[in-house]
Amino acid sequence: MSNFVLSSPLKGWIAPLDETPDAVFAERMLGDGLAIDPLGSTLHAPCDARVISVHGTRHAITLRADNGAEILMHVGLETVGLGGEGFEAHVQDGQAVKSGDKLISFDLDLLSLRARSLITPIVITNPDAFQIVRREQDHVVSVGDFLMELAPAGGAAAVSPVAEGEVVREVVVPLAHGIHARPAARIAETARKFAAEVALVAVNRRASAKSPVGVMSLAIRHGDRVSVVASGPDAEYAVIAVVELIEGGMGESADLPATAAPATMVEAVRANMPSEPGLLRGVMAAPGLTIGQAVRFVSSDIVVVEAGTGAANERAALEGALAHVRARIEKAAGKGDTARKAILGAHLAFLEDPELAAAAHRLIADGKGAGFAWRRAVGGYVEALRGLGDRRLAERVDDLIDLERQVLRALTGEEDEARVLPPGAILLADELLPSQLMGVEAGQVAGFCTAKGGPTSHVAILAAAMGIPALVAAGPGVLDVAEGTGLILDAEAGSLRIGPDAAALAAAQTAIAARHERKAAAKAAAHQESRTADGVRIEVFGNVGSLNDALAAAANGAEGSGLLRTEFLFLERETPPDEDEQARQYQAIASALDGRPLIIRTLDVGGDKAAPYLPIPAEENPALGLRGVRVSLWRPHLLKTQLRAILRVKPLGQCKIMVPMIASLDELRAVRAVLEEAKREMGVTERIELGVMIETPAAAVTADLLAAEADFLSVGTNDLTQYVLAMDRGNPELAARIDALHPAVLRMIAQTCAGAARHHRWVGVCGGLASDLAAVPVLVGLGVTELSATAATVPEVKALVRTLNVEACQALARQALDQTSPEAVRQLCKAFQAQILKAGA
Ligand code: PEP
Ligand code: MG
Repeated sequence: MSNFVLSSPLKGWIAPLDETPDAVFAERMLGDGLAIDPLGSTLHAPCDARVISVHGTRHAITLRADNGAEILMHVGLETVGLGGEGFEAHVQDGQAVKSGDKLISFDLDLLSLRARSLITPIVITNPDAFQIVRREQDHVVSVGDFLMELAPAGGAAAVSPVAEGEVVREVVVPLAHGIHARPAARIAETARKFAAEVALVAVNRRASAKSPVGVMSLAIRHGDRVSVVASGPDAEYAVIAVVELIEGGMGESADLPATAAPATMVEAVRANMPSEPGLLRGVMAAPGLTIGQAVRFVSSDIVVVEAGTGAANERAALEGALAHVRARIEKAAGKGDTARKAILGAHLAFLEDPELAAAAHRLIADGKGAGFAWRRAVGGYVEALRGLGDRRLAERVDDLIDLERQVLRALTGEEDEARVLPPGAILLADELLPSQLMGVEAGQVAGFCTAKGGPTSHVAILAAAMGIPALVAAGPGVLDVAEGTGLILDAEAGSLRIGPDAAALAAAQTAIAARHERKAAAKAAAHQESRTADGVRIEVFGNVGSLNDALAAAANGAEGSGLLRTEFLFLERETPPDEDEQARQYQAIASALDGRPLIIRTLDVGGDKAAPYLPIPAEENPALGLRGVRVSLWRPHLLKTQLRAILRVKPLGQCKIMVPMIASLDELRAVRAVLEEAKREMGVTERIELGVMIETPAAAVTADLLAAEADFLSVGTNDLTQYVLAMDRGNPELAARIDALHPAVLRMIAQTCAGAARHHRWVGVCGGLASDLAAVPVLVGLGVTELSATAATVPEVKALVRTLNVEACQALARQALDQTSPEAVRQLCKAFQAQILKAGA
């Protein structure tokens, strides 16, 4: 075989591979080559070749030249995160191409905004077979110019059939994302250290372990069983090395629970609760107390046939079903509240996921039926998501299962019939899917209780938005309750009473009536100024995430907004909103509040709230990573744009600015510097209040230092609780234990109030604890003077504040700080509440 030449696939500056800011390329884990900093926007074939694979998101392509050289071209770095946006592929897998043919076009402007780097590595991925003997250097090249010369390097890594005498060991892949590019590169790097020929065999396909592309082409997923086989002098050692590397997880282990998992924390908590005959315990997913009758909600199994009836037929059937479900979701998303729209939006995003469809199409091409392929493709994702240990992704499992069902129903033509429910139906199910709950008319369902599920799932959010009391994780006993049995569901108490006697029913009826009455009275007095019974002003504000929320808060008597979560403007979109758009939206919300104070929180993304245009590098522990103010300071131009938009709201003094996730004073100073710069640029001379959120233990214990420079402090109890207790706020297993009334959290709030008082700053609470009626007296007792609650609870919080005496609240708070558990604090608060109710009766 003679030497051969690759021509430049792209116009741009040539750079050595070492300068690529990604170790996988710079350290040549994928092979040798060079990089091009593009000046053009089309990638061409560098030689006559066949396309081995165009990556699903079209940002990378691998070719095999006619003489066997494998060439990977990867446009930009971490461009996989763009999900194909800005890329157009002109070729398909398996296609033959001629030197100079167009392969991929890309939007250079978009990439320069959104990709980590534009640098485009061109790498020979079978260096065992070819080596680079000459290459272009530090030069601008045009398409077709000389790029590099390759020479055959004795002994191509040919894929050999399984042979007798090979050393073989099996390994189950623990990597959460399966063997994608990086692990494939690591495997190849390890295998190449041995003289032996090493291969991976998965699902009856075999690839040289020394070829990262070959390994990637096996599409090995989490949980797959893979054989590592080798022959040659050091075969034994090579197999051990590769098996150990894979078994070790390469830092990407999913750590799935074993199949015979021990009782979950929720179950353990449930088991520890005093059990009573006729009483089931669960975790509140949406508040409320209701009386009704059991309606068992069982979803019938959908049977799919594995064998297809021809790829073209099956492809058309799948496409038809997907289009049908998409159209239905789009129609449903046109009406309803924000929660419902957001959930349906997530469903649409899944339906449009190119990888999901591609996975199903691959199975169809292998002769499977459309239903089988769809179920398999979704199942693979469900497994992967469950294993990631990431709340936001794990919560999406329900949505995927929901979509699996909807598409299968559309394929079989058997849509779920709308069920006529009896009055006061309390649905009992193993799990409920969002679309099933959306499928019932509001007002038809009195409540629901599921055996499984978590309190932060989409179905729980929907229930809260629909005002349906709900319990989840109540255990398998739920499924034993007979149809039509009388029930009392008390979500706040976490209980489902089965077959209550007349006395229990009468007590529940009285409690429901009293609640209604209290709510109605609170609503009627919602617009009065909020003061305690002894005349201390406690501002009761509403949390807001959209214009509708602001209108609802104002209608419910909120005296302002203590938290505008600006993420609503930044998430679920491809580019950040510009200054004009932000200014318009903030102005609309300020106007809806009609002059009442509006505290605008700067962008709080990162962690579990991802914005696709922010290429936040993958983090092992996002909750402790780049989020909140850290993101703003990492991308200060975004912060400046946001601050400028806030400064444009009229009247100027209505808005205050609040910074999330503060861990040290430096961050506040850095934000203030950007604010001052924005003010200078805009000629604003008035004072704008700048406050901090207390969400980290660091901020709470240094509240005195922060208060010296912050205009106010507002406690985000949701995050503060998760960081103080080291319990993920979204983990359903911990839901029963992560209680902001834990004495440790209360001590942090007490410390915050003490620190703030030293500099005469006020402290508010804008986390969930401000909407918890049991907690309000304690917060007032600790020194909190502003409570920003959900719009719906504002009237009740105001009514409660009116009954309080600050000295009594202080005594309660002192006692609460000395309790040994959140349960004990709750008991104390309950007793206090009972006293208030008695006094008011
Ligand atoms: C909080 O953490 O309590 C808070 C109000 O912020 P978010 O819930 O938006 O993280
Ligand atoms: Mg927070």
